[in-house]
Amino acid sequence: MKTKIKIYFDNAATTPLDPRVLAAMLPYLKDNYGNASTLYSLGQKAKEAIEKSRETIANFIGAKSEEIIFTSGGTEADNFAIKGVAFANEKLGQHIITSKIEHHAVLEPFYWLEKRGFKVTYLPVDKNGLVNINEVEKAITDETILISIMHANNEIGTIQPIAEIGQIVKRTREERKNRNIQTPIYFHTDAVQSFGHLPINVDELGVDLLSASAHKLYGPKGVGMLYLRQGVKIDSLIHGGGHESGMRSGTENVAGIVGFAKAVELAKEELNKEFKRLTELRDKLIKEILEKIKDVSLNGDRYLRLPGNVNISIKGIEGEAALLYLDKKSIACSTGSACSSRSLKPSHVLLAIGKTPEEAHSSLRFTLGRFTSAKDINYLLKVLPEIIGQLRKMSPTWQEDIVKKEIYEDKCFGKEEKV
Ligand code: PLP
Repeated sequence: MKTKIKIYFDNAATTPLDPRVLAAMLPYLKDNYGNASTLYSLGQKAKEAIEKSRETIANFIGAKSEEIIFTSGGTEADNFAIKGVAFANEKLGQHIITSKIEHHAVLEPFYWLEKRGFKVTYLPVDKNGLVNINEVEKAITDETILISIMHANNEIGTIQPIAEIGQIVKRTREERKNRNIQTPIYFHTDAVQSFGHLPINVDELGVDLLSASAHKLYGPKGVGMLYLRQGVKIDSLIHGGGHESGMRSGTENVAGIVGFAKAVELAKEELNKEFKRLTELRDKLIKEILEKIKDVSLNGDRYLRLPGNVNISIKGIEGEAALLYLDKKSIACSTGSACSSRSLKPSHVLLAIGKTPEEAHSSLRFTLGRFTSAKDINYLLKVLPEIIGQLRKMSPTWQEDIVKKEIYEDKCFGKEEKV
């Protein structure tokens, strides 16, 4: 069956595979099927392709090749970073810090470690969805071994002050050294949403560990990586044949890794141009939605946000209903993060920025990408106001609000002056 989605506004959930990535992968799915651990030439061809890919990805973020560990995706990279550092360093400290708006791939490992006796600080964010660096600094104790703060949020797109937190971690390390405290402190960032979309240099950001996932940058699903700075003390979570320098066992996903590297190569070439193009489309979409539909608010910081992210709350409607109406018009978007959209719980990110459960339920997320055109934006701007109008006509809360507003206006101005 052919899928009928023509206009795709859910690039934060996943991106379509770029045909150039598919072309790079195909030889490793067909003729070059060798196992990279074997010694004959077919296997060595696979091994060479993996090492070349590792180098491409390392260069992209200013890392060394041996600091890239391939994983099955972002979730595994996050679990590896968080549990791996926690297990390896628990004898020296058991305090770990994160934020309230992390992806579940970070929050769940933190909850799990908390149940096993780790002390966790969940930092709040302000109404724009930003972590306050002073609060990060205040939260650090001599027991703190790990800070994990995401680079960019998957729901509201806000970009966190990672380089500033990196500086705090550096100062803490020097200060501990002066006081002869042996406990290490490591800094991890989940860069799954920003990787390939924002410039990233691990030294400039001051991070020790960084997670990425290929399917968020027009690469294949089921492959990702953890950047692991040399010298970080970490336990491996997947034991077996000793692949990935003994850090992550399992026969390598050669075609996936080659596709990931091709996706990185393309992202590098197009980064600046795409950043500018998407920012312009995003800003047009935000401006015109706010002009065309009343009682809409933007969620997340107006400027410190990913170039392709628009997240809004629309008074008087249910996000799910709007999503289904948009689907009928061949538009795909989301009401929160794709991973949690099956649950009816309000988004933890929207609650953390101070939205009410109703405002959270009335949210829609449009995420633009490489294949989004100005024509798509115009189509959405034509269809969305019509759908919101229809839904509001059916919404008892919206009708009640209008009646209340009219009574209020009558009281203030009197019926005659109102027209
Ligand atoms: N972290 C963030 C911020 C994400 O947006 C996602 C996926 O949506 C993940 C982690 C999980 O990545 P993966 O789907 O590769 O497991």
